[in-house]
Amino acid sequence: MPSPQSLLVLVLVLLATLMHGSDLPAATGNPPGSYDLAVSFSPPTRSLTATARITLPAGSGLQLELGDLAISGMLLRRADGSEAVPTAGQGGILQLAEERESRELYISYSHQADDTGDDLIDPAGIVLLGLWHPLPDREMRFSLRAKLPPGFTAITESDRFPLVQEGDATIAVFSQPRRALHLAAADYAVASREVRPGLQVHTLFFPEERDLAPSYLEAAADYLQRYERQIGPFPYNHYVIVANRLPTGLGLPTFTLMGRQVLRLPFIRETSLGHEILHSWFGNSVEVAATGGNWCEGLTTYLADHAFRADRGEAAADRRECIVNYLSYVNDHNAIPLSAFSSADHRQPQAEAVRAIGYNRAALLFAELEARLGAETFNQAIRRFYDRHQDTTAGWSDLSQAFSAAAGQDLAAFFSERLERPDIPDLAVEDIDVRQTETGPRLSFHLRQKTKQPFALQVPVLVTTAAGTRNFTVTAATGDTPVSLTTDGWPLQFSIDPGYTFLRRLDPAEQPPVWSQFLGAEKKLAVLESEAVKTVYQPFLDALADDRWTVKIAGDIKIDEFDDSAVVFLGLDHPLSRSLFARPDLPAAGFSLEVRRNPLNPGQPAVLVTSAGVEETAAATPKLRHYGRYSQLHFTRGRNDRQQIAAADSGMQFNLDRLPAGAATSALQPFTDIAARLAANRVVFVGETHTSMADHHLQLRIIEALHRLQPDLAIGLEMFPTSSQPALDAYSRGDRTMDERRFLKASRYFQVWNQDYRYYRDIITFARSKGIPLVGLNLDKEVTSTVFKTGSTATLPEAARKSLPVDRDLSLPGYAERLAVIHGMHQTAGHGNGSLGGFIQAQALWDEAMAEHIAEYLTRHPGRRMVVLAGTQHTRKDTGIPPRLARRLPLQQATVAALAADEAAADLTTTVDFVFAIEPVTLPDQAKIGVVLESQPLDGRPALKVGDFTATSKADEAGLRKQDIIRAIDGHPVAEMDDVRIALLDARAGDRITADVDRPGRDGAMQRLQLTIELVAPADHPQ
Ligand SMILES: [Zn+2]
Repeated sequence: MPSPQSLLVLVLVLLATLMHGSDLPAATGNPPGSYDLAVSFSPPTRSLTATARITLPAGSGLQLELGDLAISGMLLRRADGSEAVPTAGQGGILQLAEERESRELYISYSHQADDTGDDLIDPAGIVLLGLWHPLPDREMRFSLRAKLPPGFTAITESDRFPLVQEGDATIAVFSQPRRALHLAAADYAVASREVRPGLQVHTLFFPEERDLAPSYLEAAADYLQRYERQIGPFPYNHYVIVANRLPTGLGLPTFTLMGRQVLRLPFIRETSLGHEILHSWFGNSVEVAATGGNWCEGLTTYLADHAFRADRGEAAADRRECIVNYLSYVNDHNAIPLSAFSSADHRQPQAEAVRAIGYNRAALLFAELEARLGAETFNQAIRRFYDRHQDTTAGWSDLSQAFSAAAGQDLAAFFSERLERPDIPDLAVEDIDVRQTETGPRLSFHLRQKTKQPFALQVPVLVTTAAGTRNFTVTAATGDTPVSLTTDGWPLQFSIDPGYTFLRRLDPAEQPPVWSQFLGAEKKLAVLESEAVKTVYQPFLDALADDRWTVKIAGDIKIDEFDDSAVVFLGLDHPLSRSLFARPDLPAAGFSLEVRRNPLNPGQPAVLVTSAGVEETAAATPKLRHYGRYSQLHFTRGRNDRQQIAAADSGMQFNLDRLPAGAATSALQPFTDIAARLAANRVVFVGETHTSMADHHLQLRIIEALHRLQPDLAIGLEMFPTSSQPALDAYSRGDRTMDERRFLKASRYFQVWNQDYRYYRDIITFARSKGIPLVGLNLDKEVTSTVFKTGSTATLPEAARKSLPVDRDLSLPGYAERLAVIHGMHQTAGHGNGSLGGFIQAQALWDEAMAEHIAEYLTRHPGRRMVVLAGTQHTRKDTGIPPRLARRLPLQQATVAALAADEAAADLTTTVDFVFAIEPVTLPDQAKIGVVLESQPLDGRPALKVGDFTATSKADEAGLRKQDIIRAIDGHPVAEMDDVRIALLDARAGDRITADVDRPGRDGAMQRLQLTIELVAPADHPQ
């Protein structure tokens, strides 16, 4: 082992060769100590050799981290000239206890770069960001003397730029104390620009990126001027933008290292550069105090990223994206208070949640402050904070003090609530009331806070009235705040916090379905279209799989498995995906990703992914993490060429009233003109309220007119299932063996539809008279009712299941919401037992099946047109049959309905193309016998037994008795309920019928009687 003396010689020799002594500032011996580093590089061996001279002021100790640096010598020289050789302890830590006198420590070492992201030495360049010199545990004044490979230009923390050249040495001195130096060097091209006297901006780009330099210099100058105006003088006299061979975005004192791969992306110059430059003020000049949490990323995000979006008029959209991102990643299990955020490191556990807290939650705290205090006071506080804490460290408490002083109010409680609580505000509105008062219309409601403890909030409320819009601010500090707002005009709508001025839970309608919701979901399910496509999506599965993730293939998944999971469908041909989203129209080329709300569980996202091949998947997958805020994405060979966020409500919206739409009566067109326009369509939907005779009257008028113009017409009917088709065919053909009575029996009309046949009688008789084909469009009732009850098609018989349309779109905008209203808010969402999920699936099955049957018929009969008669909910052009038909067959179609008083006029433009103002038409009352009939098989055949009499019945007077079996009416045999309904189709009160009746005698034998019964008006429903 060498003696201390020989080590000293070695150290001093190294120092002499590298340092030339005199150029370095003399070690002053005053706090905070100085750190002089001399280094030379050997790119061929990817190594450096160096000597550090660390001067410790009197009265201080030091801890140095040596890591795996190869130490060749260490020497400690005291002020009295005595020398010692210190030794590093466990884990490469060198500990020097505090001493009264000043000391100098010399360390010679070499370091072999490991070529990781922050440690690179090779002939193409040098990047040293990690442990490449002994790291002190406190800030020191650094100087550097480096011998660089020929042709290299270097950047490091420095008071001056370009760095001083002295012979073959490059010299940097940095007077702001730091704990580490960072160094990059390569054959850079330098470009420069003056921002103002005394402030220069430079780029160090590789020759290939040289063309970008002017735009970067200009953008940097703009940012520097902007922040000098807003905050105060830039803390250095130069700023350097350095292209890095490694993919970093690092803001360091006096310079930023940006990955050269991303320099050409517009958002780097438009956003990231400003963010990194702003870190010069916050992060580098004002440093984050070691304890109390990191405020700096939130403030920088707010004053840079958010402010740039605000410049483009996207302030509220950006704040909502911040909230959505926060809600995607942070849940009850991983939420930490903002004050606990310290590091933005991507590699820490729950990194995305931690970053959402440190960036999004913190930025929203500043947004909330600015909304409360106004921009002027806000900026005063920022200037005050910078002015007080430049070149030193600061914490949240210093921000709280600066803002309190600028605002002239104590904001400590505001800060502590937002910094210390892991939960966030959660609002609800209840008991809404609008009334006219003597001072004007008054809107009142209760603003409730659903958190255990209420927050002290300033809640903006935007009220839209007939006279315009008006902003109010409600102070809500308790769990239940009564609100009363007097407006100018009658309130039509109001929204809570439409500008997203603070972090809160969002209503589902406010939250667009976005990719980050899937990334942050607590439970994830990936569903592969088939085993065969696995290779296409393997890179996606490999990159995104984590412990919250299950992969399923094709057949082995049931609909209730994604009750509590976010789901991604890989490939669009999966039957389950097609039963929810049909086949979305995504491009076949490239890689597409589309996030939808799961229509059966709107709180969970469902993601549809399709890729043209494994190369496209592999190229797009690594990019996906950066696009969490979007709903729709497309990549071509890894290049993003489409990005979109789905629409959502602004604020929590409450609709109170709508002004009705109208039209000038002079714009009304004669029936024949509209009929002529309708004739241009291949399919005309005429919506009906089933029990409105006037609607059916209109339907017949339209059918007549269209048939006149275009005889090759067919009529599609919701009222008949496809199983009634043989009867419909025979009847419409005019088959003489099939009279109306037989038709009603054979088509099972009364079993399947259960409405008075006279509503449709004229239409069907007209069709028969003209030979117009009648087409049953509906599914058998058992199918939809089973799906409604069980919440799934899985329980249907095989044959029924196979006959269903495969592609069913439950996610048409507004569809699930509309059905939820119909289903009734009191029922809980889920599956089975007539739940909302079952209801939506059954309704979609119904609409899709009718669309499919129309498409099939028109495909088989290319020359024909069709009038479709169905309920107005099915004929809606936004979410009913029409869009589902359009998906299957490109054709021109129109929707028509009578103007009904219960239809919201404002909706008409989305539901129909034409409306008719119609006059009421009534059907004469159908007379009844006035008995309750019970179906009771007799001798194995159906029979009808008299159970009871209604109050107005005249049947008992006529001699009918309970237990009698009615065998025939007016000579027509009756055995089932529909026989009676058919027999009484045209009956009027006061008419007399002849009834053949069997009455059981005492001996059990039947006695046949014939009774004449006077019919009565239908006081109630029984026959
Ligand atoms: Zn940052």
